[in-house]
Amino acid sequence: MDAEVFRAWITSAARVIEANRDHLTQLDAAIGDADHGINLDRGFAAVVGALRALDPAAAAPTTPGRILLLTGNTIIAKVGGAAGPLYGMAFRRAGKSLADAADVDLPALSAALDAALAGVQQLGAAVEGDKTMVDALAAATRAFSKAIAEGASTDDALSALAAAASAAAIATIPMQARKGRASYLGPRSVGHEDPGAASTALILGALRDAAQAGQ
Ligand code: ADP
Ligand code: MG
Repeated sequence: MDAEVFRAWITSAARVIEANRDHLTQLDAAIGDADHGINLDRGFAAVVGALRALDPAAAAPTTPGRILLLTGNTIIAKVGGAAGPLYGMAFRRAGKSLADAADVDLPALSAALDAALAGVQQLGAAVEGDKTMVDALAAATRAFSKAIAEGASTDDALSALAAAASAAAIATIPMQARKGRASYLGPRSVGHEDPGAASTALILGALRDAAQAGQ
């Protein structure tokens, strides 16, 4: 997977976040402050602008790692709340993990997603079961590593990644939130899908779609 696939991932993530902006904001209205979709859409729109502004004639051609670093830096600059710094950290750590590789294979992508998860957990101190984006990201990275270890194709491994994230987002519905704004609701947070887990599933679904379209 080269820089074009990563650019396509982020562009596709921006599109799917925009299409689901109101849905994500409604999820956040139920157990938060109704800004998750609006925040993320603003952030990803800025990322798309920043990617467009990358100079195609630059001396060093862009790399997957640089695209993810730019994504993370832009999200940190544009998105407030809990999710901005957390997603910013995730993309920055993934970008750093890829270093200056021009082409990213499945194990390198898996290591980058593991680094993203570690960054989110370092910053937010959430564990699985706390009803946050960590639930979706942790289930996804686990399914991805397992698929790779079993010799899955790129397509199948990324499908496993995205499917695990979606299932984990749905699995947050019966949980009681223990981190973030939703935790203030205590037992009243039960019965609603976590907005950050839902957006993580959308972003990882966009990765699967971009990699499949790029083949
Ligand atoms: P805010 O709660 O500040 O309004 P957002 O609405 O943009 O921020 O994002 C809320 C999402 O952030 C939650 O649904 C949850 O997934 C995620 N989140 C909140 N706190 C944490 C944390 N400590 N660790 C991981 N994710 C968190
Ligand atoms: Mg919110």
